[in-house]
Amino acid sequence: DMTTRIHERLSLEDQLRRALERDEFELHYQPIVSGVDGQVTGVEALLRWKNDGGQVPPVRFIPVAEETGLIVPIGEWVLHTACAQLARWQADGWPRLRMSVNLSVRQFRHQDMVANVARALAATGLDPGSLNFEITESILLEEQSVINTLYELDAMGVEISIDDFGTGYSSLSYLKRLPIDTLKIDQSFVQNIPGNADDAAIVQAILAMARSLGMHVVAEGVETAEQLAFLRRHGCDALQGFYFSQPVPADQISALLRKTGRFLLPESKSSLS
Ligand code: C2E
Ligand code: MG
Ligand code: MG
Repeated sequence: DMTTRIHERLSLEDQLRRALERDEFELHYQPIVSGVDGQVTGVEALLRWKNDGGQVPPVRFIPVAEETGLIVPIGEWVLHTACAQLARWQADGWPRLRMSVNLSVRQFRHQDMVANVARALAATGLDPGSLNFEITESILLEEQSVINTLYELDAMGVEISIDDFGTGYSSLSYLKRLPIDTLKIDQSFVQNIPGNADDAAIVQAILAMARSLGMHVVAEGVETAEQLAFLRRHGCDALQGFYFSQPVPADQISALLRKTGRFLLPESKSSLS
């Protein structure tokens, strides 16, 4: 059993090494929607890998890419592809659309990270403020050099989000120290609202805290009208989840933008009761 698993893992690693040159990666994009008016304000780029065996989910290959360091060249590809796509959308008539890109801690440890971001911005002519990097709280356990990189990115004018907020780290003091613009409430808290009183209380507390700290909030994993109503009632800025759209290829986002660029939100007051 163990041997089978080791073999599987080695072959995954092997295939991952060749995936870039074989052009097996693709980015899908998931809309991020304003809680006020349903406008699509941005998209999150999510990596997809299709190899001989079919679609491999990120939860399976991202950890392998991180352990092997392959996440560095793969992450470069993601960044450049996402920036080029955003530049196209902005030029096609949506100049205020924003792009969120996930970054692993491993990428922060790499010397060339900041220079690579600068290259991607220069190559596409994007306003740095339209780019948002999603990092997880685990980065806060890293050495000072990693934290310094965060400051360098902030100085360039890009935005920074804490992804999966509330699942990782026990101290909140970093929120006042570090240049963080947005908290993304983890989907595990969103899943059982409003029914689960504890999760509802946690979500409300995150929203209240973010408001006092002057941060934006995105709720992840919004799937139902009830979750949406609860989040809007408590002033959540932005929403993301299957309720609106799965992550989809770029052309489907283009079609969505051309149609109206916004989702119809249920009348929030009437959906309260
Ligand atoms: P994440 O950044 O927290 O991304 C959100 C995940 O939740 C995505 O899974 C998305 O498809 C899924 N999701 C979105 N809405 C809903 C919903 O309403 N319900 C449910 N159940 N799920 C929803 P995905 O695409 O499988 O990605 C998983 C993780 O892999 C991401 O979590 C991120 O940590 C990582 N990842 C994906 N792309 C990249 C990348 O380009 N670079 C790095 N470093 N990590 C990436
Ligand atoms: Mg993310
Ligand atoms: Mg997340």
